[in-house]
Amino acid sequence: MMDYHLHPNYSIDAEGSIESFCKMAIQGGLQEIAFTTHLDTDSSTDDCFVNVKGRRVSTRSNLWLEEYESEVRTADDTYKDQGLRVRLGVEVDYIPEMDGALPERFYATDFDLILGSTHLIDHIAISASDRAEHAFSRYTAPELGEKYYTLLLEAIETELFDILAHLDLYRRFGQIFYGEEIHEIWKPHLKTIVQAMKKHNVGFEINTSPLRRKQTQPMPEENIVRALKEFGITVVTIGSDAHSPADVGAGIHQASALLKRVGYTHIFHFEARKAIKRPIW
Ligand SMILES: [Zn+2]
Ligand SMILES: [Zn+2]
Repeated sequence: MMDYHLHPNYSIDAEGSIESFCKMAIQGGLQEIAFTTHLDTDSSTDDCFVNVKGRRVSTRSNLWLEEYESEVRTADDTYKDQGLRVRLGVEVDYIPEMDGALPERFYATDFDLILGSTHLIDHIAISASDRAEHAFSRYTAPELGEKYYTLLLEAIETELFDILAHLDLYRRFGQIFYGEEIHEIWKPHLKTIVQAMKKHNVGFEINTSPLRRKQTQPMPEENIVRALKEFGITVVTIGSDAHSPADVGAGIHQASALLKRVGYTHIFHFEARKAIKRPIW
């Protein structure tokens, strides 16, 4: 069992040390986890920081990355004898102007996995309850779809990412704003997205965080997962997007059941950014 989307307290909106996440993973019977600290890139927002030992450090600085890498590798050494592998990942927020927003050391870091996310539309976080509406009020549902999936396509084409995180993130708060129409906006765009995913070797994750927000569907929702399967996308991971140790592994059984229901038989682990195929548990 895996959980490939975890935010320890390096992320400014998360709590709990790497060690405490690992202990919870072992208690929950997981065999492999990946830490995926946020790397926000839009300097016009207040989010471009990480915490390192109680200090706030710019995401552009090399300081945190060195510390983070060494702490995750130490955790892997410590816990592998107890049956838990710990992978080094990061969740990068894609924006078109992100050149120069990554720390220099980013390219020299031996990540196992890089998640690509699009959290922002017009510099507004659609993942935040207090800000999302501000972005949505500018667009009809189909316009939002056009905007979001154009951004996602650009993100894929950078070839920076292994996995697309929470592919239909706009649904989290968009469902309240737009109603049922929000479930349709991916339809005109998915074929183009899939072609780019195949060309640039990018997979997707089943993100279980909506299941902790009283929603019945993970991200992406089942209809999209089914379409991705039909279009031949094979590389898929599962992640809880936990921001505290208590949520490690949350919803991963529902996610594996969903994957099996739509016909997936395998899941992928990552090591040094190579996708490794394993049967779904
Ligand atoms: Zn995210
Ligand atoms: Zn995340």
